[in-house]
Amino acid sequence: VRYTSSLPDIEPNRLAIRKRQQLKEVPPLKGLKFGRHFTDHMLTIPWTAEKGWGQPEIKDYGPLSLDPSSAVFHYAQCLFEGMKAYRNAEGRITLFRPDMNMARMNRSAERLALPTFNPDALLACIKQLLITDKHWIPQEPGHSLYIRPVLIGIQESVGISPPDSALLYVICSPVGPYYPDGFKPVALYGTTEHVRAALGGTGEFKIGSNYAPGVYPQKKAIEKGYVQNLWLHGPEHNLTEVGTMNLFVVFKGEDGRYELVTPPLDGMILPGVTRDSILQLARSHLAGQINVSDLPKNLVVSERTVNMKEIVDAAKSGALVEMFGSGTAAVVSPVDRIGYLGRDVHIPVDADGMGPISRPIWKELVGRQMGTIEDNLGWSV
Ligand code: PMP
Repeated sequence: VRYTSSLPDIEPNRLAIRKRQQLKEVPPLKGLKFGRHFTDHMLTIPWTAEKGWGQPEIKDYGPLSLDPSSAVFHYAQCLFEGMKAYRNAEGRITLFRPDMNMARMNRSAERLALPTFNPDALLACIKQLLITDKHWIPQEPGHSLYIRPVLIGIQESVGISPPDSALLYVICSPVGPYYPDGFKPVALYGTTEHVRAALGGTGEFKIGSNYAPGVYPQKKAIEKGYVQNLWLHGPEHNLTEVGTMNLFVVFKGEDGRYELVTPPLDGMILPGVTRDSILQLARSHLAGQINVSDLPKNLVVSERTVNMKEIVDAAKSGALVEMFGSGTAAVVSPVDRIGYLGRDVHIPVDADGMGPISRPIWKELVGRQMGTIEDNLGWSV
C-alpha cells in the first residue's frame, strides 16, 4: 500500500518538538503492569481530505479533545499497531522489523478508507519520539518500551462515509517481561459459540472493530476456568488464533520428525511480525543460512490448516508435542490445555513451561530483539 494522493504526505522535516516543562517520574520497573504507564510525550499528525497530512508534533502526553460526533466514537474508524523499542547492554536503542508494522498499518488504513502514508516518514517521526523519551526505555533483560501507533477517523458528523479528517498519534509505555517468574503455560477455551473473523471479513487487519467483540467471549472463557479463547472456524473447527496471538502447533511423526505448523494467511489471520519471524528463523535454520541454537534439524515447517480432530487425535496418540501463541507482547506463550466440547485436551510442556521447538525459537528471537545475537537477517533498526 502506498500513498497516492497529490496532497502532502507525512513530512518528518516539518516535525515540531515541544518538550514539556516538567517531566514525569518514571515508574519503578518492578511489578510494572502492561500498558498502564505512558511516557512524557506523544506524537500527533493531523490529516484532512482538503490539505493532506499536516505538521507532525511531539508534545505533552495528554487528553485529546474531540467532537462527540467524531466518526471513531460511532463506527470504529480506528486502527492501531503494536511494536517495541529495546535497549541493549551498551545502551543502544533498537526497533525490531518496524517496516512490517508500518506496512501493516498502511494496509489497515486502506481497508478502513483512512489515509495511507509514507511508511519511512512515519518511522522517522517515531524515532524522534523515542529519542525525546529515551530515558523511559528500560535496559533490564526482558523489558522494553511498547509503542502504540493509532489512526482514527474524526469527521464531525453522524453520517458514515470516508472521513474528511483523521488523526494519527503514537504513545509509548514501558513494559516488563510478560512472564516475570518464568513461563506459565495457559489454558485455552476452544470457542465454538463465537468466531473472531470470517472469510472475506477483516481478520487480517489490525483494526479496533476486530477486538471489542472478542472481550465478551474472553470473559466467558475466564468464567469457565480458562485464560484465553482458542478461536476456531468452520464446521471442522479449524484452529485460527489464540486470544490476540498467532498460533503454532508441533507434531511428531512416526519417523521422529517434527512438524511446526501454523495456519495459513487466508484473510482471517492477522499477519503477525512474530509469526513471520518464527517461520523465517526456522526456515533459514533448515536451509543452513543461520544456526538457531538447539533447534532440531529433523523439522518441517508448514503453513497449513489444522483442525480440532487432528489435535485431539494427536494428543491421544502422543504425536502432539507442543502448542504456543506468538506475538509482540509475550513473544511466545505456551499452551498446556484446551477445553473443547466439554472435555479437556492436555498438551505436553516441559518443566520450564516450554517445549523442544518453542524454547530455542524463543531464545533466538529474544536474543535478536535485545541484540545479544548478531543480526545477520537485517531485522534490527
Ligand atoms: N493476532 C492478533 C489478533 C493480534 O492482535 C496480534 C498482535 N498484534 C497478533 C496476532 C500477533 O502479531 P505480532 O506478532 O505482530 O505482535
